[in-house]
Amino acid sequence: MCAEEIKTGEDMTVEQKTIHKSCFKCAFCGVAVRIGACARDHSLESRYGLKYFCSDHMLLPPGEKAAQMDKLGIKKKGR
Ligand SMILES: [Zn+2]
Ligand SMILES: [Zn+2]
Repeated sequence: MCAEEIKTGEDMTVEQKTIHKSCFKCAFCGVAVRIGACARDHSLESRYGLKYFCSDHMLLPPGEKAAQMDKLGIKKKGR
């Protein structure tokens, strides 16, 4: 999810991907999410990478999520 190195003890595995525990949060509001109570948005992953959304925000339209992530300064992939 982010470019930082993942050290043992800070990692967790979600859908066969190893991510930081601290990165497993809603990309919209920043609240920590739990496996089974979050969702990815495939339509945004090509631009923003792997992101999760809490149950309050997973159903928002992709355009609204993208606008919020831009506001938060989440880096887009590529150029
Ligand atoms: Zn991370
Ligand atoms: Zn949220």
